[in-house]
Amino acid sequence: MFPTGLFAQTRVPINYWTNGFDERYGENSVIARAMNLLHDRFRSLEVLKKAYEYSRGSYHIKGGYWEECRMNRQSHFGYADLLWHQITTLARSVPFPDVEINAYHREDDSWGRADVGRVKVYWAGYGIDWSGKFKVELNRYHLGSAGAGSNPEMWASTIAHEMLHNLGHDHPPCDNGMGLQINAFSRAVHTYGRQNWAMLTFRGCR
Ligand SMILES: [Zn+2]
Repeated sequence: MFPTGLFAQTRVPINYWTNGFDERYGENSVIARAMNLLHDRFRSLEVLKKAYEYSRGSYHIKGGYWEECRMNRQSHFGYADLLWHQITTLARSVPFPDVEINAYHREDDSWGRADVGRVKVYWAGYGIDWSGKFKVELNRYHLGSAGAGSNPEMWASTIAHEMLHNLGHDHPPCDNGMGLQINAFSRAVHTYGRQNWAMLTFRGCR
């Protein structure tokens, strides 16, 4: 159904930087550990397969994004294939788009937020190319706090979630349901194929 070859054996580093975090609370350290996990997990074929297994093809793509990426010129792709197309392309891309991670502070149950559709993997006539850079925001109110807030897997999952927002995926407000690709991918990044109940009890918004 999908092309599965050409996955990079040696992945280029994901270049990222942070703004506004406080190392007195270990915030940059947690982010560094999360990005270390994402180095493999964002570009893992196993994670991608799990995401499709969990979501069973259910998706929510921002209106107009499909056309902006000229996916309509690729008649063999359906909407449900977009995530597969994006991740397999970025997995073998040299370089990988930059990731900017900015802090915000709100005493609520939001863990992260990001613009929807700012990074495009698009059909360029000669092949597939991408444009833009990832830009995500993380809530310092949770980052570095005891328990899940200090768990790098939780933050790798959250950053991956926000990166998928940048890639045009969306969901109803505060919807953690596993039915949608964006949430299924976040969960697959968190568990990396292992049984892990923390993700199932995640109550935050992102
Ligand atoms: Zn979200």
